[in-house]
Amino acid sequence: MITIRAKNGLDMNIPGQPDGPASRLMDMERVGLSPASFPHIRPKLLVKVGDKVRQGSILFADKRNPDIGFASPGGGTVESIDYGPRRAINAITIRVDREEAREDRGVLDRHQLAVLSRDALARHLMAGGLWPLIRSLPFRDIADPAFTPPAIIINLDTLDPFHAEPALYLDGSAGAFLFGLDALKRLAPAVYIVACRKEDTLPPEIRGLVTHRVRGRFPADDPGVFLYYTRASAAANRCWYIHGRDVVLLGKFLSSGVYPVKRLVSVSSPNGSRHVLSRLGAPLALLAPEVRNHDTHVTIAGGLWRGQVAGPNDYLGLYDAALTLLPAGNQPEFLGFLRPGRRKPSHWRAFLSALHNDPLALDAGRHGEERACVNCGSCAAVCPVDILPQFTLKSVLAGEIEEALAHGLLDCVECGLCAYVCPSKIELTFLLRQARESYYREQQAVGERP
Ligand code: SF4
Ligand code: SF4
Repeated sequence: MITIRAKNGLDMNIPGQPDGPASRLMDMERVGLSPASFPHIRPKLLVKVGDKVRQGSILFADKRNPDIGFASPGGGTVESIDYGPRRAINAITIRVDREEAREDRGVLDRHQLAVLSRDALARHLMAGGLWPLIRSLPFRDIADPAFTPPAIIINLDTLDPFHAEPALYLDGSAGAFLFGLDALKRLAPAVYIVACRKEDTLPPEIRGLVTHRVRGRFPADDPGVFLYYTRASAAANRCWYIHGRDVVLLGKFLSSGVYPVKRLVSVSSPNGSRHVLSRLGAPLALLAPEVRNHDTHVTIAGGLWRGQVAGPNDYLGLYDAALTLLPAGNQPEFLGFLRPGRRKPSHWRAFLSALHNDPLALDAGRHGEERACVNCGSCAAVCPVDILPQFTLKSVLAGEIEEALAHGLLDCVECGLCAYVCPSKIELTFLLRQARESYYREQQAVGERP
């Protein structure tokens, strides 16, 4: 096993890490799927309101490759299709039947998997709606099945706060993980299994398979960070990656023929934190009723640093395993300017909180207006892939995309740390993400699928 020590990053002592076994969430009347939760795709709707669908029926496909399907997280009737600006599909809602019908894609055993061609296996996963779980670097797009990547990276851990440890999602699912792993080995010449925390809580069957150990602070768990430390050539930049919990889903799908929808979710809110055994497409307001109080709370689906702000009508997406609720932070503090800040979390040693290591609760407030960059270098000091974000951003703002690329724009793993530590409140991560996306679209426009 190779050990990598990742530099920089940030560890924060935030209270509210859920603990203990998962409770089961009650059955739900509705589930939903949002095409917007999949980066870069161009959805082509395949259902209309009133259609009967099964769990695992394909609701929409990606126009760039219509074989890549996106599956229904429930069986029932399409109740509504909500559109946003420019007719973008916000969400497809399914009213769930009491007896849910399920698509049956056929059971495979280990021997059948071993003799299936790579192409047939990819088509099976695309038709079953599981292919979007596999994504490609550096743009984090859904993997292109026509391309054979140099390797697939499986990350077992998530260091983004409040996520469940691998021992919890692997509990009772080691066999499914191993089956999924066999499938991935058919898709690429190498598969790396990467662990960030101590491996001793992993099931013994999996512990011995870990190929790399990455030690470091958030976001040492990111496949982009792993690649930054291990790549031997430019070709490695196009590795694919998948999370360990999704390898379990692959294994369950292949061995049962049924689209698997169970998902362990970590719910963290100021009113308490817990693990919940829920399902893909679950209404967020059912997972945490505080989601409805969007004047006082900000809901982040998918993790504190990497997640997206969500609303009370949103659903748990295919990539989401955590729901974090933070106080909005926009309430005025009575005589706040007189307080020494003993309970204020800050990267800067400007408050009394710098004198102790007690857990400190975050809120979602920006606590200041955007100002000009003061070249303090804090963003570079936390960047896990040694970018100088202030200079990369200056190149982007000047329209010098080649210069931004030379500054490592494509290495950015969108961890969010540079924006958090910036004393000038510059939204570095957002602006760099926008620049990456527009570069990606340019590449596509000239006929490349980067
Ligand atoms: S530049 Fe990218 S990788 Fe570096 S800290 Fe900012 S978001 Fe993270
Ligand atoms: S942290 Fe903000 S102010 Fe400091 S160098 Fe980076 S962009 Fe400039």
